Amino acid sequence: MALISVAVPVPFLDSLTYNVPDSIDLPPIGARVRVPVGSRTLTGCVVQHDAAVDEGTDVKNIAEAVDREPLLPPSIVELCRWVADYYVAGIGDALAVAMPPGARRKANAFRKHRVAVLTTSGLESEYGDGPRRTPTRGQMAALAALRDAPAGLPTAELRDRGVTAGVLAGLVRRGLVVLRDEHDERDPFERVVMAGVAPDSTRELTDEQRRAADTLFELADADDFRVALLHGVTGSGKTELYLRLADRVVKRGRQVLLMVPEIALTPSVAALFRGAFGTRVAIQHSALADGERHDQWHRIRRGEVDVVVGTRSAVFAPLDRLGLVIVDEEHDSSYKQEETPRYHGRDVAIVRASRERALAVLGSATPSMESYQHAVTGKYARIALDKRVLDRPMAAVRLVNMRTEYAEEGPDIVISRDLAAAIAERLTRHEQVLVLLNRRGYSTAVFCRQCGDTFECPNCSVSLTVHRARQGWRARCHYCNYSVMVPKACRKCAAPYLEHAGFGTERIEEQLHERFPDARIGRVDRDSVRRKGALTRILSQFAARELDVLVGTQMIAKGHDFPGVTLVGVISADVGLGLADFRASERTFQLLTQVAGRAGRGERKGEAIVQTLYPEHYSIQLACRQDYPAFFEREVGYRRGMRYPPFFALINGVVRGRTFEDAMQLAREIVSRLQPATATGHFTILGPAPAPLGRLRGEHRVQFFLKGTRRAEMRRALMQVVAGMPEIRRRLTIDVDPLSVL
Ligand code: ADP
Ligand code: ZN
Repeated sequence: MALISVAVPVPFLDSLTYNVPDSIDLPPIGARVRVPVGSRTLTGCVVQHDAAVDEGTDVKNIAEAVDREPLLPPSIVELCRWVADYYVAGIGDALAVAMPPGARRKANAFRKHRVAVLTTSGLESEYGDGPRRTPTRGQMAALAALRDAPAGLPTAELRDRGVTAGVLAGLVRRGLVVLRDEHDERDPFERVVMAGVAPDSTRELTDEQRRAADTLFELADADDFRVALLHGVTGSGKTELYLRLADRVVKRGRQVLLMVPEIALTPSVAALFRGAFGTRVAIQHSALADGERHDQWHRIRRGEVDVVVGTRSAVFAPLDRLGLVIVDEEHDSSYKQEETPRYHGRDVAIVRASRERALAVLGSATPSMESYQHAVTGKYARIALDKRVLDRPMAAVRLVNMRTEYAEEGPDIVISRDLAAAIAERLTRHEQVLVLLNRRGYSTAVFCRQCGDTFECPNCSVSLTVHRARQGWRARCHYCNYSVMVPKACRKCAAPYLEHAGFGTERIEEQLHERFPDARIGRVDRDSVRRKGALTRILSQFAARELDVLVGTQMIAKGHDFPGVTLVGVISADVGLGLADFRASERTFQLLTQVAGRAGRGERKGEAIVQTLYPEHYSIQLACRQDYPAFFEREVGYRRGMRYPPFFALINGVVRGRTFEDAMQLAREIVSRLQPATATGHFTILGPAPAPLGRLRGEHRVQFFLKGTRRAEMRRALMQVVAGMPEIRRRLTIDVDPLSVL
C-alpha cells in the first residue's frame, strides 16, 4: 500500500488519506489527483507521502493522477500546511489560495474564456422597485456576485456558482451585463503604469539612502534569514532602495518577491520594477482576470521571472530561488485576509523567508506596533530614513477644532472656513489638493423628521448608507449589499420630510462642486472605482494634472507620489476613533500621517489641514507632529497595561446562529470546553458576549476571545475543542491575530 494525504477543496476539512493503486505511479507532493469524496470525485493536492491510518480503516484508492510533475512546489505545500495550522483553517482552504486560478478545472479552461462584467446600469440596477422588473433568484445571485468582482467573473465560474447560461443571457438582454472575450496575452502592467512614472537608475542616492542601502546589501549578501524594518518617513525614497536591493539579489542569482497592499494604489512601485526588470517581472493580484493570473502564475512556475510584484496572495507565488521578500507599507490592513484562511500576508512572508533563508524587508513610514516592537527588542534590524529626499520639508499640519467651527458657523458646516480658504488659494495657484474622508456614500442615514423612522438593514444590525443613484437616492448596506430606493415620503407616516444625516465622500464632492464650480474634481472610493480600470483612470488624470481636486477614502492616503499636491484636507479625523477597537488610535495615527505625507512631495512645500472634534487626542496630536517614536511610546504603554498585542496574543471566535439564543448557547458550550485548558495559566477566555455587529446577513453573532502569551497552546486548545465538535465548524469563525473585530 502506498498511502498519501490529499487536501481537498472542502471548507475546514483536514487532509484525507488515500491509497495509490499499483497501476498508478506515486504522484509527487504538490501534484493534483482526482479522489472520491462521498459520492463525488474532486481534484485535490498531494500534501504528504507515507501517511498513516488506524488499523482496520477502509482506505479508498485515488481515481486518477493529474500531474506527473508537482503543480505546486513542495516548499509552497509546506507553507500552506503552516498557514492551515497557525490560522486554524483546513489545509484545502490554505492550498486554494496558493493554487493558480482554474487549477481544479480542465487544463485548457482558460485558453479562451468569456468574462461577464456588470454594466453601469447593472451596477445601479433599480431592481426590486416595481413588480414587473422583479428579478429571478438566479439573476439576483449573479448580480450580487458581479458587484463584488469589479474585473468581472469568467462565465465558467458563474456556472460553478449556479448561474445558468439562461440567467446570464437574460441579464445581457436587459443591458445589465456584458460578455467579453478575455485575451490571454494581454499585458497586466498596462493598467498599472501611470503617466509620469519612469525609472531613473542613474540618480545618486542621498547620504541617508546610501547608508541604509549598505546595511541592506550586507544583510542580503549573507544569504540567510533576517528581517529588517525599513522605517522611512513619507517621501524618504524607500522605493528607490527596494529597487537597488532587488537588483543586487537578482544579480546574485536569487529571486525577489515584492508585496504591495493594492497594486493600483501603489502603481509607481510596480511601474518602476517593470521599468527596471522588463519582462523578467510577473504580477500577481486578485483584480487580474483569472486568465491573466493563470498565465502569470505559470510563467513564475516555469522560472521565467526574477521578480514577482503582487498583493497578499502573492506570498504563495511558486518561486523556487527566493532570496528577498519586500513587504511595502507593511502596516497596511489589506495584508490581512478577512475570510478563511484568515492569514496575514506580512506574517506569512516572514515565515516563508525564514524557511527559504531569505531576507525580509518590511517598509513603512508608520510601522505596525508589532513590527516596531520587534525592532525595539532587536529581533528585527531597524533601518531608518528620517529625512525626505532633497531636503524637502515635511508638510506643516494645522488642526481645525470643529466644535468651535460648529459653534460659530452652525451645525451643518462640513468644510471649515480655513480649509475652504486654503483650497481656494491652491486653485488660483494651479496646485493640487487631496481631500480625505474615510467614509463613502452621500449620507450615513436618512430619517423622517416627523416620526423619526430610519432605514436599517433587514439582515444586519447597521443603518443603511445613502448613495446618489440615477433616479434618486438608494440606501445600501455596506455589509450584505441589500439595497432599497429611498421613497419621496416616509414609509411609516407618509410625511414628505425625509432628511439626510451625516456625510460621506459623495456629499463632500457635491459641496466642493458647489463652492468651486470651475474646479475639476474627481472621487476615489470603492463605489467610484468599481469598474475595471476606473481607479487607474482617475489616478492617471490626477497625475497628469487633468484634475485639481481628488476626494476620497483611505484609498488616496496610500503610497501615491503626486508632486503637484501642496494641500491635503482631512474632513473628519475622528471617523475611526469612536470604534470600540484597541487598534483605533494606531489606525488613526497611521491614516493621518500617511495622508499628510502626500502633500509637498514636489518642489513646493506642502500643508495639511485636519478637521477634528478631538484636537487634544494623542493620536491626532502626534500625527500632526509626524512623531512616530512618541506615538509608539505612548501607545505601547497602553497596550502593555491593557494586555493587548504586541504583548499578548489574541484569538477571536465568532459563533453564528439563527437566533441569538442559538448562537449564545453554542458559544457557551465551546467556552466551557475550553476552560480546562486555561489551568496552565497561560491564557484566559473573555466572553462569550454579543459581537459588536450583532447581526450580519441575517445571522446572529456571539463572540469570545482567547488572550495569552502562548499562541501555540491557545491554538491547540481551540483545535482540540473543534475536533470534538466537527458539526460546529460551519458556524464558528476563528481569527488568529485578528486585525478588526466585528
Ligand atoms: P517613499 O516611498 O519613502 O514615500 P519614494 O520612494 O516615493 O518615497 O520617494 C519620494 C520621491 O523622491 C519620489 O519622487 C522619488 O522618485 C524621489 N527620490 C527618491 N530617491 C531620490 C534620490 N536619491 N534623488 C532624487 N530623488 C529621489
Ligand atoms: Zn446588511
